[in-house]
Amino acid sequence: MIILVINCGSSSIKYQLLDMKNDDVYDLLAKGLVEKIGLPLGCITHKPTGKTPVVKELPIEDHKVGMKLVLDALVDPVHGVLKSFDDIEAVGHRIVQGADYFSGSALVNDDVISKIEICCDYAPLHNPAHLLGIHAISHVLPSVPQVVTFDTAFHQTMPEHAYMYALPYEYYEKYHVRRYGAHGTSHQYVSQRGAKLAGLNLGKSRIITCHLGNGSSITAVENGKCLDTSMGFTPLEGMIMGTRCGNIDANIVPYIMKKENLTPDQMTEVMNKKSGFLGLSGKSSDLRDMNELAIAGDHRAKIVLKKLTYDIIKNIGAFVAELNGVDMIIFTAGIGENNARLRRRVCENLSYLGVKIDDNANENARGETIISTPDSKVIVAMIPTDEELVIARDTMHIVSDLDD
Ligand code: ADP
Repeated sequence: MIILVINCGSSSIKYQLLDMKNDDVYDLLAKGLVEKIGLPLGCITHKPTGKTPVVKELPIEDHKVGMKLVLDALVDPVHGVLKSFDDIEAVGHRIVQGADYFSGSALVNDDVISKIEICCDYAPLHNPAHLLGIHAISHVLPSVPQVVTFDTAFHQTMPEHAYMYALPYEYYEKYHVRRYGAHGTSHQYVSQRGAKLAGLNLGKSRIITCHLGNGSSITAVENGKCLDTSMGFTPLEGMIMGTRCGNIDANIVPYIMKKENLTPDQMTEVMNKKSGFLGLSGKSSDLRDMNELAIAGDHRAKIVLKKLTYDIIKNIGAFVAELNGVDMIIFTAGIGENNARLRRRVCENLSYLGVKIDDNANENARGETIISTPDSKVIVAMIPTDEELVIARDTMHIVSDLDD
């Protein structure tokens, strides 16, 4: 089944076209990115498998125009990989926030759209863009079934005491204020792959998954289900991230707003876009830059690196307590997959658990790799995440069921 996987941001569309033979056998036909939608000059980068990539700069007025560009690139006589739009059998979308409406992927219909609309309140930067993507596909491919996969769905198994905040209960009832988590598709995928790699029975396992990228979250997975996760009502809660502050004393928010005369929207922007590595260092939101700056002696970059390790080991420690032990720890996403030094620093702080790292395996980890020694009491692994594959699989299952 040929499936187009879409991840729409407010000014971007990431896409992958996969030919799914079954859950584990598939071909990636093409992938790409449309950027700077709505700006005077936009850009599409299209990478067809086995053909030369193409980059085009042009004004891209809105998501409908962007989506049309993606489809045109897929059927282009030179750079394309399909004969016609009709070859696309289904479209799967990544949706950041499904709140407590969705504990799994769903076929798009009016009811599903109205629930995603309600969830815009809790993910104002993401859900409206996802809806633009769904509507753009309905416009250009009206008869193709669409499926939505939620970053929050995997976390719906959290127990009440983990997802409730100790705020007046009426805010939960009136405004759905509770913890939802994020990156669920990634945590679910790497925990499943990790258990397989390590020969663990997922249904009887305690796994801690560390998704460390621009946005970072850590999850406790008990018997294949989410027990707790570090992100909360929004993807701001938890640990230090590229531009997000993570946990802070909530009283800091009104304090700074009064001192700096900031509106709620401005304060939200400070915490989401101007904090984290960027805010602390004052220089960059990219961890590679922090490493370089720290080597050159930059004190604030050194704080960032220490705080990142500290936040990771603090979350792991809390989740080991919640899980009453741990069988496996997994690192994934941009930082987790590529930064061997950080993985080593974290693991050195876990010697109390009997974690022993294999330096050679850690330094050379490419693709799914166990990076702990055979006598380590906890298995540690690096597993590249693949959220698009999960979306494509779910889409294939839901759409195949329609045909039955
Ligand atoms: P997003 O959350 O936007 O998907 P990513 O998962 O791509 O982000 O992670 C981005 C982070 O990963 C950046 O801080 C970057 O420094 C780090 N990163 C990406 N590639 C590498 C690499 N090859 N070596 C070290 N760090 C990397």
